Amino acid sequence: MDFKTILQEIVQDSNTFSSIGNVTVTIPELAKVNPNKFGIHLTTISGEDFGIGDSEEKFSIQSISKALTVALAFSFLDEKIWKRVGVEPSGSAFNSLIQLEYEKGIPRNPFINSGAIVIADMLVSCLDNPKDDFLEYIRMISGSPTINYNLAVAQSEKDTRFRNAALANFLKSFGNIENDVDEVLDFYFHQCSIEMSCKELAHSFFFFANEGKSKDGKQILTKSQVKRLNALMQTCGFYDESGEFTYKVGLPGKSGIGGGIVALFPKNFVVATWSPKLNKKGNSELGMHALELLTTKTGMSVF
Ligand code: GLU
Repeated sequence: MDFKTILQEIVQDSNTFSSIGNVTVTIPELAKVNPNKFGIHLTTISGEDFGIGDSEEKFSIQSISKALTVALAFSFLDEKIWKRVGVEPSGSAFNSLIQLEYEKGIPRNPFINSGAIVIADMLVSCLDNPKDDFLEYIRMISGSPTINYNLAVAQSEKDTRFRNAALANFLKSFGNIENDVDEVLDFYFHQCSIEMSCKELAHSFFFFANEGKSKDGKQILTKSQVKRLNALMQTCGFYDESGEFTYKVGLPGKSGIGGGIVALFPKNFVVATWSPKLNKKGNSELGMHALELLTTKTGMSVF
């Protein structure tokens, strides 16, 4: 497969598409990002790398981190995590409070904010130094020692935390947060503030496509565990647009309001895109379009 040419064609096509969408305004620090950035990086399962555009520039991975926190929690607690978080698509916005009332404090899945906050609570319980240990885990799976938190972004999330604080307190009222709410939120804001390039993202998610083994051969999760997480990304990775992403792209993936998307074709490739302009559901407009073109041009999708 000639991925180099295909990525070039996608970028050319995207020039006519790049005016649609808006940079997020929910986190003031992220609203400052240049809206016209665009990068794609694809890593094949045999380890070949193909990058184009701003693919080596770091950006805020935001909700994409939720797939990595759940992977780490899964390695500690295995199936026990599903006692406190569900595995069903939510059909609601990423920061919705409403379903929590009906579901008695059990979030529908780990990729909406409420679910990710419960996973953050699990990691605060499991890790000795949660923020340091999580960063070390990210550096290990990606093979990139320069990955870091963006403290200005974490602070900006804290300053505007009202909805996430409401979710965390509501969860606590149902007994689904074990630790101090502020400590859990602090961890959550830091995980969302992690910055990576498309290349680093593709490398971090390599083990999802490689039956649980990282790019440098470490067994991060079992084959069965990554099967389950890929299934969750397929059904829940794009908030209330998960059906649309599956319909258009046909790959498991995860988006973030920093404009990043990571998607993968098990046993074939991992691809990450970054374009900060979001559609109304909070997903990168151009990123989704680029991935739709990728699976259409290559014929490589899970369906
Ligand atoms: N840090 C963001 C929040 O909690 C993450 C949302 C996202 O990327 O969807 O609101």
